Amino acid sequence: MKRSKSRIGHEPPSGEVHGRVSSCDDCVRIRQELEAAQEEIAHLNRTLYRVQQIARLGYWRASLKANELFWSEVIYDIFGVDPHTFTPSIRAFKAMVHPEDLDSVEASMLRAQEHGHHDVVHRIIRPDGEIRWVHELGDYEPEGDDQILIGTVRDITEQKRLELRLRQLSRTDELTALFNRRYFMQRLLQELARYRRYGRPTSVVLFDFDHFKRINDTHGHPAGDQVLVSVGKLLRDRLRTNDIPARLGGEEFALLLPETGLEEAIGVAEKIRQLVQEQTFTSEQGRCFDVTITSGVSAFQGAEETVEAILHRADQNLYQGKRSGRNRVVADERGR
Ligand code: GH3
Ligand code: MG
Ligand code: MG
Repeated sequence: MKRSKSRIGHEPPSGEVHGRVSSCDDCVRIRQELEAAQEEIAHLNRTLYRVQQIARLGYWRASLKANELFWSEVIYDIFGVDPHTFTPSIRAFKAMVHPEDLDSVEASMLRAQEHGHHDVVHRIIRPDGEIRWVHELGDYEPEGDDQILIGTVRDITEQKRLELRLRQLSRTDELTALFNRRYFMQRLLQELARYRRYGRPTSVVLFDFDHFKRINDTHGHPAGDQVLVSVGKLLRDRLRTNDIPARLGGEEFALLLPETGLEEAIGVAEKIRQLVQEQTFTSEQGRCFDVTITSGVSAFQGAEETVEAILHRADQNLYQGKRSGRNRVVADERGR
């Protein structure tokens, strides 16, 4: 009581000198405490900012009804915009979301309103054109009439790059940079599912180099490797982007040709056979040589089709080609 009286300016009846001194002491102490608290808050803010920078993590608060959005400083860094000129809003944020990811971002915001949790990984396109991956996590907090989402955004671009690289490596053949057997089989299963569901035509070409042992024996193993590398490049350059060229192992290759019927696949196999035959290779001793391949072609057919059956038919066709003289394309009988 005494203290609050002196603060609002009443003269204390006695002990005034002592009282006034004590009141000033309080003022100084309170000011010091306030300054110390402000310094501590500033220090905590700096630490929070550093921690967010280190973690590449920012926090945000969105009011869905008012279309308002607060961003912590690090989010401006991640999005590549200037905090002095850029005003965050849900609309402005959505405009920076990669168009292919906008549906999943909006779906996650809707789920948050229903189930309370926002969790989405998506790309953003920064004003400088750079694409970054972010992971957003948020919780929905009803606040009166408004719908508030509070959350974090983490820049996961490096992690995504690594992830994509690892995925690419896990599906790539080391020598030729074509797809490997595992990925080929995976895609063949997917295409079979599409064929069963929608009846889309799909074909497979298997090919094997002719007398490759002889090539190794005559020109050396490195020259044989060069042939495989070079034909790998030829396939990457000459096939359509949707086609899946793979090295199944050794000197056996396969092409998975989606949206391609038997006749068209025979055309592709024949074109590749000719292109391989036209190439000339040079051994380490400077001797020139040619190589040829034999192909077996098969297309999905019938309701009972399986991955094993189509590969078996293509393999049988290939070996019929070997038996009947090599350097040729043998396909399923038409209309079988
Ligand atoms: P065919 O016409 O009947 O196919 O005769 P071929 O000599 O090619 O016989 P086969 O397909 O059975 O043998 C393949 C040979 O290819 C055996 C192996 O020495 C060689 N080969 C397998 N993988 C590689 C490789 O990665 N590099 C090299 N240089 N040679 C390989
Ligand atoms: Mg061979
Ligand atoms: Mg072979």
